[in-house]
Amino acid sequence: MKYWRNMALSKRLLIYIMILVLMAVCAIGAVSYTISKRALDDKGKTILENGVVMASAYLNELWGDYERGEYTYDEAVENVRVFLNGEMTSAGHRDLMTGIDLGEHGYFIIYDTEGTAVVHPTMENQNLWHVVDPIRQDYYLVQDQIAIAMNGGGYAHYAWAFPTEDRIGEKITYAQYLPEWQWVVVATTYEEDFNKSARSIILVLILSAILFSGIGIVGASMFVTSITKPMKHILEGMKDASDGDFRQIEPIRRNDEVGQLIVGFNQMSCAIEKANDHLKKQADRIAFLAYNDVISELPNRNRFSDYVNQRIEKGIRSGYVLQLDIKDFKIVNSTVGSEVGDFILKHVGQSFLAVKDEKAMIARTSGNEFSIWFEDIHQSDLIKIINAFKRVLNERLERNQIKQTIDFHYAYAVYPEHGRNFDTLYKHTSIAMKYAKENRDLKVYRFEDTMLEVIENDLKMSKLLEYAIYNQEVTVAYQNKVSLATEKVIGVEALARWYSSTLGFVSPGVFIPAINRSNLALVFGQYMLEQVFFEHRFVHQKFGDHIKIAINISPIFFIEKQFISIVKHAVEKFSIDPRQFVFEITEDVFISDLDNIKETVGTLKTMGFSISLDDFGTGYSSLNYLKNIDIDEVKIDKSFIDRITTDDKTVAMLAAIRKITEAYGYEVVAEGVETIDQINILRTVGYDTIQGFYYSKPEPIQYEEISLPEIEMGSVENNNTK
Ligand code: C2E
Ligand code: MG
Ligand code: MG
Repeated sequence: MKYWRNMALSKRLLIYIMILVLMAVCAIGAVSYTISKRALDDKGKTILENGVVMASAYLNELWGDYERGEYTYDEAVENVRVFLNGEMTSAGHRDLMTGIDLGEHGYFIIYDTEGTAVVHPTMENQNLWHVVDPIRQDYYLVQDQIAIAMNGGGYAHYAWAFPTEDRIGEKITYAQYLPEWQWVVVATTYEEDFNKSARSIILVLILSAILFSGIGIVGASMFVTSITKPMKHILEGMKDASDGDFRQIEPIRRNDEVGQLIVGFNQMSCAIEKANDHLKKQADRIAFLAYNDVISELPNRNRFSDYVNQRIEKGIRSGYVLQLDIKDFKIVNSTVGSEVGDFILKHVGQSFLAVKDEKAMIARTSGNEFSIWFEDIHQSDLIKIINAFKRVLNERLERNQIKQTIDFHYAYAVYPEHGRNFDTLYKHTSIAMKYAKENRDLKVYRFEDTMLEVIENDLKMSKLLEYAIYNQEVTVAYQNKVSLATEKVIGVEALARWYSSTLGFVSPGVFIPAINRSNLALVFGQYMLEQVFFEHRFVHQKFGDHIKIAINISPIFFIEKQFISIVKHAVEKFSIDPRQFVFEITEDVFISDLDNIKETVGTLKTMGFSISLDDFGTGYSSLNYLKNIDIDEVKIDKSFIDRITTDDKTVAMLAAIRKITEAYGYEVVAEGVETIDQINILRTVGYDTIQGFYYSKPEPIQYEEISLPEIEMGSVENNNTK
């Protein structure tokens, strides 16, 4: 069965066809043989019967002659014998040469009613009453024939040996009784003598079966081949396709199912090849993206990491992982557009490629961060390469009319001192980079172990801060804003103060950045907002309802999605009038999407709040923001005020800023004013509102001891997701 199932289709089809042809031939042969045999048998029977009729007529005639005395009884009997079976030969049997044809082996027998063969070619005068059929041994054939004849005559069948051959054949007899003679006349012969020609039909049929089978096999095999050959081609095509070779199969000039199958296969193969090509391209692209950066066309962090680890494994003596981080790149992006931003990124990479040596590798390891691997060079060479890089980059940007000044933070870690594999080296470089970013200067920072302490300190600090917020260790101090013209307080700025039970007094310059680095900015922002809203009535009691209280909002809190809802919630909770408050934001908020900032500012202003741009001039100052955002006040940073007594250019710049803010209708506040000289100069360039130690230091507001508002822990916890 297994062999049959595994047999080629063509062979199986051929076997089916052969079986069908043979079955058809056999069926036709059997039917034709049966029909013709029956017809021939009938003919034989007629011959026998006619023979008996003729013999009877002769015998009747002879009886008349005998009665008339023309023959004696014995003469008459001998005449009958000669007439029916011929002359007696010397071998002792009749020669059967008579006028009545009973076929090749046919002869006459005449029995008397006791079964004695009166006439018989070989057994004359023998009593055959007890002769039985050699096959059916209970069949007394002579008795049966006599009985049939006595009953009016008829046919009988029995088996008998052929006279000269060693085989038995079927015999048929016709027997009739002649009352005058009291004889039974029997004509007998082998059925074969009549239906021999029917057998030739079988021969013919066998020959035609062989012939037709041959023709059938050839025809069928041609037909089957015409199906299986294209199928074989398709199978080969499929096998090649599974090996990745999508070739076309030679089409055949046929439009039947097989022809269409080939066309279909070719179309499918073509489609798969196309899809495969597409997939291949995508896979190549994915593989490319897995190791490369699209914008800068540089290797990415994965490839960089592999390369560094490989080089280390090769056994190099020393190496550096240098990181450069484009300063305020988000702001660059939002001012000049991301297309120019991308262009800058590309040129940063290309410029470094132009100056690096062969063994060095540069990669873009994250958004605005590039990492470079140097090996076997001196530390001083690093600075030379950085300077060369800056030169090349500036030239390129100038050549491409990009006016933007691009600065970088630099940090590096040294192999093997700071790590013996990429991950450790990169981690340490990143720590040094964190440092570089906090210091906002252009120094190249080398990783130091103490930097790790700072990070650990940050962690400790954030834990203490969390405690401080929930345990109200953080309080608010208010610093006055005074009008030079009237010398009256026209507003105050709320400033956070932290007296930690563990650390003692901690300056906002330390804990505010720590909050912004931790995930506490939102909780802290909400806390300060509610604290100031709660205390405002005491402040307003002290200075009058007309003054505005300024609240500092960190950029992280300001760009937070929930910021507006937190403000609205606090407004309702403390029933404050937003027109009595100012939100101070710094230019750092503009690292976020300008449209979002505009929207938030717009919502706050609709509610009634005023907006102040704090520390103007320290961040990424762009006069664009002054024009684009609907603010109310600009606060000039202390660093400018510090310089005005010694630097005329700063004075000129402050005068210009005053003009611009005047033109836009913004208030301007000078921060950190400490001396009368500064005040005098500020007065000359049109500044009226002053905030600084000259007039007052930040101080807590005095109010009766009543319990402070509870921070809503639930909402804080929910918000504390950053
Ligand atoms: P800022 O908003 O620019 O606040 C003014 C800072 O200058 C305050 O420092 C104030 O004490 C200081 N200052 C004012 N006049 C003088 C002066 O004449 N001489 C000197 N040397 N300093 C003067 P402070 O309170 O240490 O706060 C530092 C910064 O911390 C603030 O700068 C503000 O950016 C941030 N900060 C303070 N409280 C909060 C707050 O509640 N939330 C947020 N997000 N930031 C806050
Ligand atoms: Mg401020
Ligand atoms: Mg300020």
